[in-house]
Amino acid sequence: MYVTGAQWVLPGLYRDHFPLLHPDKDGKMVHYLDNSATTQKPEILIQATSFFYQNFNANVHRGVYGLAAQATQAYENVRAAVARFIKAPQAQEIIFTSGATESLNMVANWMGQALLKKGDEVIVSMMEHHANLVPWQQQCARSQAKMVAWLPNEKGELDLDRLQSLITKETRVIAVTHVSNVLGTVNPIREICALAHQHNILVVVDGSQAVAHIPVNVEDMDCDFYCFSAHKMFGPTGLGILYGKKDLLNQVTPFRFGGEMVDIVTFEESSFMPLPARLEAGTPNMAGVYGMGATLNFLKSVTYDAIYLAEQKLMHHMFQLLERMEGIKLLGQASERVPVFSLLFEDMHPGDVAQVLDQMNVAVRAGYHCAMPLHRYYQAGNGSLRVSLAFYNNQEDLEALEEGLKKARKLLVR
Ligand code: PMP
Repeated sequence: MYVTGAQWVLPGLYRDHFPLLHPDKDGKMVHYLDNSATTQKPEILIQATSFFYQNFNANVHRGVYGLAAQATQAYENVRAAVARFIKAPQAQEIIFTSGATESLNMVANWMGQALLKKGDEVIVSMMEHHANLVPWQQQCARSQAKMVAWLPNEKGELDLDRLQSLITKETRVIAVTHVSNVLGTVNPIREICALAHQHNILVVVDGSQAVAHIPVNVEDMDCDFYCFSAHKMFGPTGLGILYGKKDLLNQVTPFRFGGEMVDIVTFEESSFMPLPARLEAGTPNMAGVYGMGATLNFLKSVTYDAIYLAEQKLMHHMFQLLERMEGIKLLGQASERVPVFSLLFEDMHPGDVAQVLDQMNVAVRAGYHCAMPLHRYYQAGNGSLRVSLAFYNNQEDLEALEEGLKKARKLLVR
């Protein structure tokens, strides 16, 4: 276990619960340091998904027979569990989507259609993932609204004074990430919402990178919309969440039309169901939702307090590692952060370094991490090498990373 003193020992919290991280019969294992792209899955989720198919599989909200009723009940139980998990006041405020990308597009699409008009302004932070940037570009073009960039400071933090100076009478929406997938910065969403709401501005938050690291309380933050993907929080792929305040969600125009979301349909026209069905057309990812319930139970037993402590140790260790290395610059030095580190090299290309690391079974991401404007802003034309950690990462992972970085220098720098 963890030993205090000069030597930091990182056991990897609940690592045994993640089958993909187990060593193979030859003792080889993947050092998975790409958790911002997707997190690994706990055994309990893998089992729950197959349990659903073996025991509960029937389409939800349709059949009157017992199996369909059971499947529907299980599905709705998870909606309520998600609401409790992020402290949403009502289960109806949780919409299941295919991922954060769909959630964000659904909100932007509605705003572009119904809210934004010529001359309006949408403030988008420069640290957004393309999923919270491109939809706004599209909707601003459609409605002739203007996108205004909120630039981070040199530490990689978004500063509220700067936001205040960007707000005008025309500002309608602020789109901002809770946690940056490149810099690791945790943004002050509560304060952003408080300022925005003084000016009747809506706040759309991309929570994709927050949920694996910090507890989310949408009521306390008072955000209008909060979007994230289950697969980034040890949950299933193909499942996203859109949280919205009920009065706003009630106004959101459906993004998809079809079965499940309609009430009365004639050949000429249709009326729609109330929330949440109105925004969930078609057969949803039922097994994924069921599995998500298992993941939430798992995270409850892990606890965010334990995650915080494990990640503080990982960060400390990672900073020490970086200090020992030559020729590396860290993108972003925010004081509130999670263990996501994007590295720039004086004399190596991040893509080449990632290849050397791959030879040592160290999985990291090289490139722009779907945040090209941010890399351009920080003049990181070649992109960066991202090491993104989760609570199950351990000492061996970081040792393999360090060894790999040293090997890359030996091979690539003359
Ligand atoms: N926002 C952020 C900050 C992300 O990191 C990602 C995934 N890389 C997304 C949005 C999009 O998530 P998904 O691909 O699961 O829809």
